[in-house]
Amino acid sequence: MNPISRRTLVLGGLAAAGATALPARSSVIAATAAVPYPFQLGIASGEPDAGSVVLWTRLAPLPLNADGHGGMANANVVVDWQVSTNDLFTTLVASGSVTATYAAAHSVHVVASGLNPDSDYFYRFRAQGHLSQVGRTRTAPAVGTNGRDLVMAFTSCSHYEEGYFTAYRRMAEDNPGVILHLGDYIYEYPATAGRPRLHAGTVEISTIADYRRRYAQYKTDPDLQAAHAVAPWIVVPDDHEVENNYANTVRADSTPVLTAAQWTARRTAAYQAYYENMPLRPAQANNGNGIPLYRRLRWGNLATFHMLDTRQYRNDQACSDGWKICSDADLATRSLPGNAQETWLLDGLNQHFGTWDIIGQQVFFARRFNSTGASMDSWDGYRASRARIQQGWTARGTRNPVVLTGDVHRAWANNLVADYNNANSAVIGTELVTSSVTSSGDGDATTAVPDAGTNPWLKFYSNRRGYVRTTISPTQMRADFRAVAKVTEHGAPVSTVKSFVIQEGLPGLQTA
Ligand code: FE
Ligand code: CA
Repeated sequence: MNPISRRTLVLGGLAAAGATALPARSSVIAATAAVPYPFQLGIASGEPDAGSVVLWTRLAPLPLNADGHGGMANANVVVDWQVSTNDLFTTLVASGSVTATYAAAHSVHVVASGLNPDSDYFYRFRAQGHLSQVGRTRTAPAVGTNGRDLVMAFTSCSHYEEGYFTAYRRMAEDNPGVILHLGDYIYEYPATAGRPRLHAGTVEISTIADYRRRYAQYKTDPDLQAAHAVAPWIVVPDDHEVENNYANTVRADSTPVLTAAQWTARRTAAYQAYYENMPLRPAQANNGNGIPLYRRLRWGNLATFHMLDTRQYRNDQACSDGWKICSDADLATRSLPGNAQETWLLDGLNQHFGTWDIIGQQVFFARRFNSTGASMDSWDGYRASRARIQQGWTARGTRNPVVLTGDVHRAWANNLVADYNNANSAVIGTELVTSSVTSSGDGDATTAVPDAGTNPWLKFYSNRRGYVRTTISPTQMRADFRAVAKVTEHGAPVSTVKSFVIQEGLPGLQTA
């Protein structure tokens, strides 16, 4: 196709698009005068506040193209968007047009504003003569109000090759009001023969084209698309959105061999692709070799979401990576979020914005020691940092701190105690750890808590894949640990393995 004719067509608007044979890739398609469906990656919304939400899509008629551009030519495309109170779009409350650019891999991040608080909305896009799928989204309650009780589901670790995204489908069927993803949304590895599904690409992803294509492949999954379409998401990455267990500028892996400049370029590419593919506000756009992701979202008087970034600012793992007995992990100079983010978190907890202070983050928070030591990649590798945060929230009178965690591919529920050297120490918070969507495969029915004798604050464990569904009211937070029976076959049923409640003003787990 002639790029100039495409540009003319695009600027000519939707009517022209519908009437003109367009793509050059396929003469068959061109002969039918149809433009291929550009919404193969679905739609999403995110970052709700009391009056606005981000609407996301990315045009990619051929998602697996190796250049990462999904079959899009180097030209701008106008994308129209609409928000309605109903899914027939008979009443529009907001609408507009944005330009999807080649430089941003034809992703768009629309901030739909002027919305009412604590309200449900439907949204859709139109581009190149096609309408997108319809998504449902929701705004937060206004400051000073509790709004409706909130069903919030969270998960992490969705390795495409290890199985089917049934957990995302079941999560969508639970009809949550908001979804949190705590990292490892993609994995960087090459295709591995013998897996239930295969990554596109035979080498570990490293370039912007690679990362864009990897997100595109994941986003073609219909179960993932269903979870994005049902509710706004609030996301933070962990390590695999860049590379396994990296710490700030320090790599944990030695392959592929990269020069310092190549590693910097890779990190930059990974952050750019993360922004392009997530329903984030423009304030979270990547900026050179970094991306400003830690942030607070207020859910009226009911809850505040403090979303942490525990990768970009951390000290390197103590005593190198892995499980270690390591006294350096106690050094006061070490921080997992970095000093600036620690201060920012404690300042936020000091505001007492909402009943529940929910800290959404990546790695295991409570102490978890076994005979080989502790995981140096988790908060156990940054013990003074954890103590500063726990003591900080206690000193500030934070009544209901709840830490949400991913990363470990198992479900756990933990009491957080003031002193992990004292088995009778006061409970000062609660941690809910989600299992993975697929990572680590089917798992098994084991629920015995590993090393419970050494770590009496660890109260629940499950080795099934799944997610946590919380129901948040002014008086209690209920947590249902949801597990799918299998991930290596599509469409397994889901069940609740265990439920807990946390009572307002009384940190720690109680059996529901
Ligand atoms: Fe993971
Ligand atoms: Ca991880």
